[in-house]
Amino acid sequence: MKSTRRIFLAQSASAIIFLPYSAHAASHTGNMFTTPGGNITVHPISHASFVMETPVGTIYCDPVGDAPDYAGLPTPDLILVTHEHGDHFNAAVLTALVGANTQIITNPAVLGMLPGDLKERARSIGNGASTNFNGLKIEAIPAYNMTEGRTNFHPEGRDNGYVLRFDGFGVYISGDTEDIPEMRALEGVDLAFLCMNLPFTMDIEAAASAVAAFRPTYIYPYHYRGRGDGTQDPAEFARLVGDAASVKMGRWYG
Ligand code: ZN
Ligand code: ZN
Repeated sequence: MKSTRRIFLAQSASAIIFLPYSAHAASHTGNMFTTPGGNITVHPISHASFVMETPVGTIYCDPVGDAPDYAGLPTPDLILVTHEHGDHFNAAVLTALVGANTQIITNPAVLGMLPGDLKERARSIGNGASTNFNGLKIEAIPAYNMTEGRTNFHPEGRDNGYVLRFDGFGVYISGDTEDIPEMRALEGVDLAFLCMNLPFTMDIEAAASAVAAFRPTYIYPYHYRGRGDGTQDPAEFARLVGDAASVKMGRWYG
C-alpha cells in the first residue's frame, strides 16, 4: 500500500489538469486523478455537492442547489445521498437531475422520504453495510456527532458516509460527522472529502487529526462554512495537514 501511494504522489503534479466546461457550466473545472482502473475527475459544485466522472459512470454526491448548477455535466449514472439535511438532500433537485437509468443509493432514513418515482430507482444501505454499483463496491460508513450537546444534529446510526472501492483507488465521502473512530480507522483511502464546520461537524484541528490517522493521499476540505464561527479555513486546515497528505482546493462557495 505504501509503495502504491508513493506512485500516486509522484504522479500528482502531472495528473491534475483543469477541464473547462462551456457555456452555463463555465465554473465547472475539475481535478483529474489517475487511478489503476482509469481516470476520476472531480467537479466541486457547492458546499457538500460534487460530481465525479469515474470508470464506472458519473456519480453525483449529495446534489442540491439548482439543476442548472449541474448543466454541462453528464447525466448521473448514480446519485449518492448521505442524509436528510437540506444541504445534502433535495427531492425536487433529484427529480430534475435523474436520467432514464440513474440509480440512487441513500441511507435508510432518506429512502423513506423519497417520492415514489425516485424510490423506484433507489435503494438504501445502513452503517456498516455495502452494496455494488457496476462492479464498484460501496461501503456505508457511520457519520455522526459524538460531542455532548451536538448529538442531535447527526445521531449515531442514522446517516452515512461512503467509501467507494474503485480498482486500486479508494474514495471516502465523509457526509456530516465528527472525527469518529470509524473514520480514523479507515484503510485504503486515496482520496477523501472531509467536512469541517461547527457546531454541525468538526473543526480543522479534529479533521487534520483524523487525516493523520487514516492517511488519505488526497483530501478535499468541503462543507466548511456554517453559521458565524462555524466557518473553518481550508487553507489553515492544509497547513495543519502539512506533508501528511495533498490538500485539494475546490471552488465550493461563490
Ligand atoms: Zn447534516
Ligand atoms: Zn451538512
